[in-house]
Amino acid sequence: MKIAFHGAARTVTGSKHLITLHSGTQILLDCGLFQGMGEQTDDLNKSFGFNPAHISYMVLSHAHIDHIGLLPRLVAEGFNGNIYCSPATMDLGRILLLDSAKIQVQDAEYANKKIVRIEDHEMPLYNEADVIKTMSQFKTVDYQEDFQIDDQVSLRFTDAGHIVGSAAIHLSIKENGKMTKLTFSGDVGRYGDLLLKSPQTFPQADYIVMESTYGNSLHKDIGPIEQSLKEIILETCIRKKGKVIIPAFSVGRTQELLFALNALELKNQLPDVQYYVDSPLSLQATEVLKNHPEVYNNGVKEVMKTDHDIFSFKGLRFIESVTESKALNADNRPCVIISSSGMAEGGRVRHHIRNNIGNSKNTILMVGYASPGSLAGQLLSGQRKVWLFREEYDVIAEIRSIQSMSAHGDYEDLLKFLSAQDPAKVKRLFLVHGEYDVQQKFAQRLIQAGFKNVSIPEYHQQFEL
Ligand SMILES: [Zn+2]
Repeated sequence: MKIAFHGAARTVTGSKHLITLHSGTQILLDCGLFQGMGEQTDDLNKSFGFNPAHISYMVLSHAHIDHIGLLPRLVAEGFNGNIYCSPATMDLGRILLLDSAKIQVQDAEYANKKIVRIEDHEMPLYNEADVIKTMSQFKTVDYQEDFQIDDQVSLRFTDAGHIVGSAAIHLSIKENGKMTKLTFSGDVGRYGDLLLKSPQTFPQADYIVMESTYGNSLHKDIGPIEQSLKEIILETCIRKKGKVIIPAFSVGRTQELLFALNALELKNQLPDVQYYVDSPLSLQATEVLKNHPEVYNNGVKEVMKTDHDIFSFKGLRFIESVTESKALNADNRPCVIISSSGMAEGGRVRHHIRNNIGNSKNTILMVGYASPGSLAGQLLSGQRKVWLFREEYDVIAEIRSIQSMSAHGDYEDLLKFLSAQDPAKVKRLFLVHGEYDVQQKFAQRLIQAGFKNVSIPEYHQQFEL
C-alpha cells in the first residue's frame, strides 16, 4: 500500500492523507481546509492533488475546519463514499460546515463586488446545499468499537482528548495475507484538560502518522482559571462598573469559561452581574457538548452529580440575533461578554472591542493563544493604538490575560500519547500538522525515544509502506 500527504505537510492546516491499497481501494484520512497561507491559500484549496471521485471512503479525526473544511468540495467534485467519524464529530461537523459554507458564500459575494464581468465572478468553494449532501454520507462509529469497513479494512477510534468527538484513527489493513496496523493521531489533546478526558492509549502500530503542532514546546502548568476570572470580574464590573469583553473560540474555550463560571456559582463566589455569550455558533457548540457526556472527564462527572447543567448559571444569556447583539452596546450596565472569534480577527467580538476599548473602566480579557499579528495579539503585546473597521483607536481599556490551556498537547503530552508503543516495532513514523522547524526538533526527541525511522513528508509526497 501507499500513503500520500496532500495537506498539513510541513504546515498546520489542510490535513489530508491518502492511503491507496493494491486492490485500488483509496482511503482518505481527513479533508481539511488550508487556512492563513497568504496568497496561496485559494489555490491550495482548489486543487486536491488526487481525484475525489476515486476515493472509496473517508475517515475523520475531528470536526475542526482544518480537518473537515474541504469535505463539501470533495463531495461536489465527485466523492460519494461513506464518511466515518465519531457521533460527536458528526454533530459538531454539521454546525461548523454550515457556518463555513456561509463564510465561503459571503467571501465570494464580497470579492465579486469589484468584478464587473459576470463570467469572471468567483464561485464559492461550496454552499449550504453541498454541506447537506455531504452530511448524508456520514456514518458514525463509537470510541473503542472495532468496525469492519470492508473485507480488507477495520477501523477503531480512540478518544484523542482534543475537542468534543476528537479521535485517533486506527486502521487494520489486510493485504496479500499480511495485516498492517496504521494509526493516525489526529490532533492530540492535553493530559488534564478541564473538561475532556486525557488521550487514550492504543494498540501497537506498524506505522504512525502523528501531529506535531507543539513538538518543541512545553505548556506552562496553569491552575484553575476560576480565581483569576473572579478577581477580574469583581474589579471591572463591581468596583469600576465596567464591562469585561472576552474574545473566545466558539468550540472549546467558550465552554471552558462557562464551566469555570458555573464552578464559581457552585461555591457561591460568582459575581452578581449579567453574563452574555454573543455567538450563535457558541450556543450550538455548547449544545453538542451537552449532548455528548461520553467525552467528559471524571472531574466533570463529579460536578454533574450535584449539577446537571454544568454550562449554565445565574445571569447567563446566549445572544443569537444581531439586533440583540447591537443592543448590548447601548446598555451601560456592567456585564461580561464572551464572543468569538478567539483572536478577535472576525466575528461580533470586534464590535464589542470597538465599543469598549476607549473607556478605562472596561477590561478586554484574552484567554487563549493569539498570533502576534491578530487584534488579540496586538492588544496582548501592549500596543497603545489599534486599527478596527478602518479606524484607529486608542487602547484606554485595561488589557488582561489569563494563561489558559491549549487544545493541543505539548511535546511531553505527545510522547505520553506514544508511550504504550514499542518503538522498535514501529516501522515508520510520519510527522504531520506542524511547522517544519518544530517538526525537525520533535523528530530528534522521537529518535532519542527509540523510534528508528521518522519522516517529515513534503506536500504531495508519497511513501510505499
Ligand atoms: Zn484540531
